[in-house]
Amino acid sequence: MLYDYHVHSRYSDDAENSMAEMALAAAEAGLAGLCFTDHVDLDDLNGTYNPTAWRSGEYFAAFEEARAAAEGKTELRLGVELGEATHYPEVAQAIASEIPDFIIGSVHNLTATPDFYCGRAGGENPEMYAGEDACRALLERYVSEIEETAALGCFDVIGHIGYPLRYMRTVYPAMSIEPWRERFAELFRTLAQNGKGIELNCSGLRQSLGETMPAQWLLALYKDMGGEIITLGSDAHSTKHVGSGLSVGKNLLQGLGFKNYCVYNKRKAEFITL
Ligand SMILES: [Zn+2]
Ligand SMILES: [Zn+2]
Repeated sequence: MLYDYHVHSRYSDDAENSMAEMALAAAEAGLAGLCFTDHVDLDDLNGTYNPTAWRSGEYFAAFEEARAAAEGKTELRLGVELGEATHYPEVAQAIASEIPDFIIGSVHNLTATPDFYCGRAGGENPEMYAGEDACRALLERYVSEIEETAALGCFDVIGHIGYPLRYMRTVYPAMSIEPWRERFAELFRTLAQNGKGIELNCSGLRQSLGETMPAQWLLALYKDMGGEIITLGSDAHSTKHVGSGLSVGKNLLQGLGFKNYCVYNKRKAEFITL
């Protein structure tokens, strides 16, 4: 029985289904439960402050509706995917204090820079990935912003580590974050010390990336550095992807020697045997 801890409903601009529809899809897929992690991206796609990212009343009302619809069918939790917290630390802290169960801390775009998505082949900002040196400079800044996110602390797990590669590799297929291995080792040590974790985001398995985020070598490093807190997520943006890739992710973790994965209740990690 698996729990999907990265799911978007239509509260997110890039998703279409209601929370109730997503919850029923989880029951249909045989999931033990799911946690909604809709986008609260403090920057928009262009890297400009988005003051309407958090609409709490609307969000909490949709969750109550979903809970009624899924009663007795699957277990629901409420979280968010909080993006770019470090760009507006006080706003991020205030929002985090209102979130009932779980927060994924994500970096989708760097300070005053468009979302990594916008630089993809055929995207709105091709200048972002104009040359391998330009890509490496962005990755250097990405690693720094992940470190800053970890230091700020208004999250439970760091989201989809390696996210820029999903888009950079549409232009430069060999681009890698392996040169930052030591920085990640230190980051993972810090997370373990602070009782924080990472997610295993399985969305890349169904996309051109063809691997999880983080990739297998980073998961192995996470384990070596004492990392134990890890959630599994499909990053579904529609009902057809609820639970997608989770069993592959579970097998990957087992193969690396992880014994458990995590779910959250009221911002506290609970361990589930793999
Ligand atoms: Zn994300
Ligand atoms: Zn997401």
